Amino acid sequence: MKTVFVAAYDTEAAERCRMACERIVEVHHEMNVPATFFIVSKLLEGAERADYKRLLDAPKFEIASHSATHPLLRDHPALNGKGVSWEQVQTEVRGSKATIEDCFGRPCIGFRTPCGFEDGLGDRALVELVAQSGYAYSSSVGWGPKYSLPVPILPARTYAAEGCPDLWEYPLQGWHENVLKGHNATPGRFLLWPPVYPDHVVTRFVKRPEEEFEVHRYFIDKAIELEHEYATLIWHPWSLGKFDPEMRMLKLCFEYVRARGLECITFAELHARQGRMPARMLAAAQA
Ligand SMILES: [Zn+2]
Repeated sequence: MKTVFVAAYDTEAAERCRMACERIVEVHHEMNVPATFFIVSKLLEGAERADYKRLLDAPKFEIASHSATHPLLRDHPALNGKGVSWEQVQTEVRGSKATIEDCFGRPCIGFRTPCGFEDGLGDRALVELVAQSGYAYSSSVGWGPKYSLPVPILPARTYAAEGCPDLWEYPLQGWHENVLKGHNATPGRFLLWPPVYPDHVVTRFVKRPEEEFEVHRYFIDKAIELEHEYATLIWHPWSLGKFDPEMRMLKLCFEYVRARGLECITFAELHARQGRMPARMLAAAQA
């Protein structure tokens, strides 16, 4: 299979993400590019439920879960944060799926943990919970070796080793764009030595959309060079909107992937095409 491009967004800040999504969605329609929106489901329970439904309820958009309230689901070494109780973890995983399916009236098959982990879902109990809740895939490997950035390009894999062979993991790739811009009060030790990609150097925060595109382009090119099944980037509507309200960077990326001959699809579509969707889920999706 030729490398495809998956545009994906971690949609997590009610008003700021909604405002940015107005323009993001417009660009996707203008350029006819599908996308996967991982959304924090509490955004669909507040005042902006109708707005999110208006914006995202389109066949070209997949709506996946980014938890219910965006807490750390387990202790996070890089962010020095403590994971919430197991009781809350269950609500975050199961409850978000139910809310999203209720709002959009279609199956929610993907889950992305808040903040990501070097080993994805990692913890066996969490893997089992995500699988048993009816998700087909996770996209939760959000850090490189020793919790460094960028996230290297890693193959999709199953959680068979954790006892769940039907659950797949699609690792993220590249830089969390909010970190590239200094939008979070994040710790400074992100770089790995020796680096995974010695020819890739970012020496300062990016200042312009064109500069941001150049950083992302490295990973798109790398995915193609490695004949990786997909290229994807780590985008947050609130941070994109703060830096580049016109979404020039998105347009540059979409023009570039098209010029390189990459088809744009969602994670759900990629999952189905690769024949990884369990039969019961295919049946549910077609019902
Ligand atoms: Zn997030």
